Amino acid sequence: MDTVEKLGHTAHALRENPDYTVSDWCFRAVRLSSEGLPLFDTHSMRLLACLVLSILAASGSAATPHAAKEAHASADPKHWTYEGGTGPGYWADMDPANALCRSGQQQSPIDISVTYGQKLEPLSLRYLPGLISTVNNGHTIQHNIEPGSFLEIGGDRYQLLQFHFHSPSEEAVAGRRYPMVAHFVHKNDAGQLAVIAVFLKEGKEDQRLIRSLWKKLPAANETTRDEHLMLNPQALMPGNLAYWTLMGSLTTPPCSEGVRWLILKTPITLSARQLAQFRKIYPMNARPIQPLHQRAILDAQGSW
Ligand SMILES: [Zn+2]
Repeated sequence: MDTVEKLGHTAHALRENPDYTVSDWCFRAVRLSSEGLPLFDTHSMRLLACLVLSILAASGSAATPHAAKEAHASADPKHWTYEGGTGPGYWADMDPANALCRSGQQQSPIDISVTYGQKLEPLSLRYLPGLISTVNNGHTIQHNIEPGSFLEIGGDRYQLLQFHFHSPSEEAVAGRRYPMVAHFVHKNDAGQLAVIAVFLKEGKEDQRLIRSLWKKLPAANETTRDEHLMLNPQALMPGNLAYWTLMGSLTTPPCSEGVRWLILKTPITLSARQLAQFRKIYPMNARPIQPLHQRAILDAQGSW
């Protein structure tokens, strides 16, 4: 075994030990010199061997966690995306818990083309100013709301948990998607979800609530940001709350069904600058349109 080979073996052995230190490398270098390799007879040569071993071991250790991370990523059910091999067509394959993403019969989003008029209760929003924190969760920008804001429909009462954005809009109207949609996620005491979808189109002015919320947005896949702002989410609602409704699902894994969807007909506007600000982080985070199967979309008729 020549000197280079011996150094390589030593570096490899050191790499296998997660607790190795620089002093371990130097100890091995001294060991090599005591094994009769003339190259390491002097102190300076021992230091050189120590340095070479450091570099060999470090370069190996850099590769090992990287490979482990990649293997982990493909097995991680949270590592779904909107395109490629971890995109919507593969969500069901990534985790048995995501089975409904493929087999579900009440999946969202949908295209609103044929609708049926029906007299339904109006939406009553009891939103209050509250603390809002912003999270970039790797799939969207999400704003979490402190408890205290409610949606009421007839006798049903749901608490607002959070709202987040998709671009383009996930829902389509007569086959066309808006540049963006905001989803307001609510939950009642029985744990059932109701989501209000608010379309956003491009206008001249900044949307004022978004301007406050997106002053410093975290970049893609950055961890959570916890800047709390006292704001009223009502400022993202249009004046007219006319809506379409149907039962659907989460539009992200695990695609759970039983979600009551309330899709507002009236869009609000945001500026081109704000739209670009979101798309810089999430250029496309919309699930494809899903089949209606046996569902009918109701066009709520009321006195609004
Ligand atoms: Zn959503």
